[in-house]
Amino acid sequence: MKVLLSKSSELARVPWVRIPPSPPIVVMKNTHKIICSILIIASLAIAAIIFRYEANQNPKGKSMLGSIRQQLSFGPRYVGSEGHTKVQNYILETLEGSGLEVIEQNWTDTETQNKLLNILTRSNPQAEDRIIIATHYDTDPTSLRDVGRANTPVPGASDGASGVAVMLELSRALNDINTNPKLGVDLVFFDAENFRPGSFDNWKPKGSSYFASNLAKLYSKNPTQAIVIDMVCDKNLSFTKEKTSLESNPVEVDRLWEIGNEVDSGAFIDDGTKEIRDDHNPLINAGIPSTLLIDLDYPYFNTPQDTLQRCSGKSLNTTYAVLRNYISQKSSPGSL
Ligand SMILES: [Zn+2]
Repeated sequence: MKVLLSKSSELARVPWVRIPPSPPIVVMKNTHKIICSILIIASLAIAAIIFRYEANQNPKGKSMLGSIRQQLSFGPRYVGSEGHTKVQNYILETLEGSGLEVIEQNWTDTETQNKLLNILTRSNPQAEDRIIIATHYDTDPTSLRDVGRANTPVPGASDGASGVAVMLELSRALNDINTNPKLGVDLVFFDAENFRPGSFDNWKPKGSSYFASNLAKLYSKNPTQAIVIDMVCDKNLSFTKEKTSLESNPVEVDRLWEIGNEVDSGAFIDDGTKEIRDDHNPLINAGIPSTLLIDLDYPYFNTPQDTLQRCSGKSLNTTYAVLRNYISQKSSPGSL
């Protein structure tokens, strides 16, 4: 058997060569720690550079991420919480700066005695033909998909704040996007989507249900279309065609996907097998063909991990651009 000596072992057999002693283990551990720290700092620096690069390339994405950050600073925003009032004020104050008409739809829920509020802003209030873009602004008081922390309110970065961020961004440009005076566009911020006492089976979205039951107070005839957005900031954005929306509104779902494929083909999947209940259901039941645009694959849904770092400005910008292009198409002459 031939044993190969390492170079240091060979040298060790030569008497006049002094081999420095091996460094103590503790030094190795410290070196390991230093290398790890350098790697962590380097990765954080690279992430910051990428984030800054993306923000510079995508100013609207940066603005929408800023809106999500601000909403999260209010804390959980479920009905009855301090954050709930703060986010209402934030939406109202932001809309006041848009120069559009703002309507507050207040009521007391007979079942819970909660005072609730839907917020609308409208372009071309005089137009009879109207479309709706909607989202909910409240967040879930529970994290039912995290068994160990089920009673923790969700931060709601994607589920709550992302839809609001996109709609507020739309409100800033709505009069430039919708250039047809015969088309009215309503941006509707629903309250209390998260209402399901005790179980998912008891779910009933309070805000959109009240809105759908009181259409005559706001419209001389039913709006022709509605798009509801929810959970739209995931870094791995993935929209599939929601089943009830497809049944209610196949032409408009296909139109939205066609626009989506032009903006970001990777995010719009041609699959229509999944069904989810959301604010589009009361609108469909009230006779408004409605589409739910939702990232059903968002893994942090209904958990305490639904935080800002799960969101990307690029994904927010994709949603914004698709809605902007959709409104722009609807406002072109001949499409009413
Ligand atoms: Zn939601």
